[in-house]
Amino acid sequence: MKMSECWFGFFFFFFFNRYILSSELVVYFYMIFRRKLQFKVNSPKPNFHFSPPQIMSSPLLGRYLQSTTDLHPGDLILRDTPLIVGPKMTMAEPICLGCHKGLNPNLAENPRCPRCLWPVCSTRCSGLTDAHTHAPECAILQLGIEALLTFNDLKYEAILPLRCLILQRRSPKKYTELKHLESHMDKRGPGTEIYEDINSIVKYLRSNFLEKLPANVLDDTSSEVLHWICGVIDVNGLDIGRYTQGLFSIMCLMEHSCLPNVKYTFEPETNVACLIASVDSPKGSHISTMYTNALWGTQPRREHLAITKYFNCSCERC
Ligand SMILES: [Zn+2]
Ligand SMILES: [Zn+2]
Ligand SMILES: [Zn+2]
Repeated sequence: MKMSECWFGFFFFFFFNRYILSSELVVYFYMIFRRKLQFKVNSPKPNFHFSPPQIMSSPLLGRYLQSTTDLHPGDLILRDTPLIVGPKMTMAEPICLGCHKGLNPNLAENPRCPRCLWPVCSTRCSGLTDAHTHAPECAILQLGIEALLTFNDLKYEAILPLRCLILQRRSPKKYTELKHLESHMDKRGPGTEIYEDINSIVKYLRSNFLEKLPANVLDDTSSEVLHWICGVIDVNGLDIGRYTQGLFSIMCLMEHSCLPNVKYTFEPETNVACLIASVDSPKGSHISTMYTNALWGTQPRREHLAITKYFNCSCERC
């Protein structure tokens, strides 16, 4: 019960009980009022005007989302379950691979997963044995225990690509969905700066774990497929809070605008993305979000988009 409700109840009870009504009647009216108030307080914030956008396609934009109804601020447009979630690939920080909680940056201070020896929040973290989070990768990370004990080299940026790779067997349907996402491999080939950066992740995964994996455990663990997966994550990954990012089959189709017409949030625990209209826009509008920092000037925004997302923004604001 909220403090304001307590005070209201107290004054209501005191005044009416003393001068007008019997105490039972006062309690009855108070309960009705409180139930109405609670309904208002607990009502979901977005207007549940649920009308999923249409997936469209054009030679210029590729696949994009278009609204199927007039949108108003607060309208919930879509809920999208992540294909995969894991530690961020850039600026990765140590997190528990079971539950994604941040860890003590002094890694020696954290408990370790009893099987793969990566740092965790607790040896009893339920995510460590969960088939949807750490369990499948734990079996592969165990192959690198010798290197881990020798060099203590923990590359958190390699975990999300590894989780994507494991989808080949854990969920072929989700792995196929990844193939529909843009990767811009034509701009990330050998000789480019990004190729060299990603190559360190690819080498780490292959030499420590994947080359030791018995044949047929996964379908394809080649360098090419790992470069492609990292391209998909770089181009499409949405940041979920401080430590993790995720890939989504529909949310990742939103196009960029420096004047976006939606915002999104993530449901706690499940990381389901909720797409919510932020301005009025008519039926048939392109659904757009911001891939860069809204507070930057035009030049830094355009440079950032050209380097990281491989396009020149030509929106109204630019
Ligand atoms: Zn944990
Ligand atoms: Zn483990
Ligand atoms: Zn722009």
